[in-house]
Amino acid sequence: MTINPILFGQGSYVDGQWFESDTQFSVTNPSSGTQIAQVADADIALTEKAVAAAKKALPAWRAKSANERAAILRKWFDLMNEYQHDLGVIMTLEQGKPLAEAKGEVAYGAAYVEWFAEEGKRVYGETIPSHASDKRLMVIKQPVGVVASITPWNFPSSMITRKAAPALAAGCTFIIRPSELTPLSALALAKLAELAGIPAGVFNVLVGTDAKGIGKVLTEHPDIAKFSFTGSTAVGKLLIAQSASTVKKVSMELGGNAPFIVFDDADLDAAVKGALASKYRNAGQTCVCANRILVQDNVHDAFVAKLTAAVSAMTVGDGMEEGVTIGPLIHEQALANIHQRVEASVAMGAKVALGGEPHSLGGAYYTPTILTHVTNDMPIAALEIFGPVAPIIKFSTEEEAIAIANDTEFGLAAYFYARDIGRVWRVSEGLEYGMVGINEGILSNVAAPFGGMKSSGLGREGSRHGIEEYIEMKYLCMGGLDA
Ligand code: ADP
Repeated sequence: MTINPILFGQGSYVDGQWFESDTQFSVTNPSSGTQIAQVADADIALTEKAVAAAKKALPAWRAKSANERAAILRKWFDLMNEYQHDLGVIMTLEQGKPLAEAKGEVAYGAAYVEWFAEEGKRVYGETIPSHASDKRLMVIKQPVGVVASITPWNFPSSMITRKAAPALAAGCTFIIRPSELTPLSALALAKLAELAGIPAGVFNVLVGTDAKGIGKVLTEHPDIAKFSFTGSTAVGKLLIAQSASTVKKVSMELGGNAPFIVFDDADLDAAVKGALASKYRNAGQTCVCANRILVQDNVHDAFVAKLTAAVSAMTVGDGMEEGVTIGPLIHEQALANIHQRVEASVAMGAKVALGGEPHSLGGAYYTPTILTHVTNDMPIAALEIFGPVAPIIKFSTEEEAIAIANDTEFGLAAYFYARDIGRVWRVSEGLEYGMVGINEGILSNVAAPFGGMKSSGLGREGSRHGIEEYIEMKYLCMGGLDA
């Protein structure tokens, strides 16, 4: 399958123009390691140009009514749906996830555009009862201004729309620097933005390999009001520090270490189904993937047997092939890191119930793996895995499960399976996580606030709260009314 030429961007999109350069970088297919495209490499000068373009485009975009902006965003949404298949193909080629998952992500990403186009019409201010008879107090809401963002490779499309849609709907202009591993999905979104009639300078895409250099401009430039990042906690901390120099507003969607707890009153088949979806989606490369599966001792063996049977039935292969449910990892370095942590954990006492090694397909393919006898201090449980490995930790009491679950610096997503209503509330309230799936392995959707506590981030994306991240609150005190 090839890339639809209508969607094929070969360089950055800045101020409504497509940029070429003699300096290019390769985009490769993780399933084969072969080159898919060569893309012009954005430099600092082009980054500065993008900031200037977004600043120049701001007054006219901000001045449009929310309805006018919504009408344009609606066209963008419609085009994403019209080209869903072709966008999915681009994503599978550059990221590796199975085509059905890629198309699902395109629809999920587009849904944010529709949602926020509508939500932009509901950015209400307020009036406040006054403390004095000659004064009236009000709050108006205004766009923050120019927004810059950096996104990762695991969701090459939806991580962009989740930020761009509320920003644009609120009246901000936007610059995105996607991961250099997956620039083509971002450029395809820009092709559709252009077709939808989003004005020049309102939505800019910078594709380049100089993550540090571009990131420094996007976090330190005085003309940027807000910086939004999705990626690792280590890089997020650095970017928060850089943003401090100009006191930018920041939103951070960082790493997770999701516990997935199976209590002895759980519906075990439902728990297996949930674990499969939560753990192995996108080959385990999501920040909300189940990272540690905690199973109560009296259902442990039954759960492991059922999970092993279900995971054994998964099909590993090229995401373009029919029936494939697990694609390759993003690159061979990722595989090496994961395998090293599996081996280190086995050396500490973990047992391999399934897999535990690179897949016979070679390259970046890893065998779906289940490890038992895991403890929370093993490297496979202490850190985000980002691969198709399910470490299973046995526990005996509810208190112990909550303590293990919370024993991490992260607090993004957690999941648990139980039927007892008292337990459901105790555990829901006891988990120090921004999102909790109860008898559910997949929880993200456009209407819900996505985000984490602790070192997992700042702010929320999606839902009615998501647009607030792109809005400045302004208090007006009007006096002299009795004079
Ligand atoms: P991941 O593990 O998902 O690759 P990273 O945090 O390394 O997470 O990367 C997320 C995004 O941040 C990517 O687009 C990457 O290129 C970018 N990035 C990595 N390091 C830096 C940095 N020092 N400054 C700015 N951006 C960075």
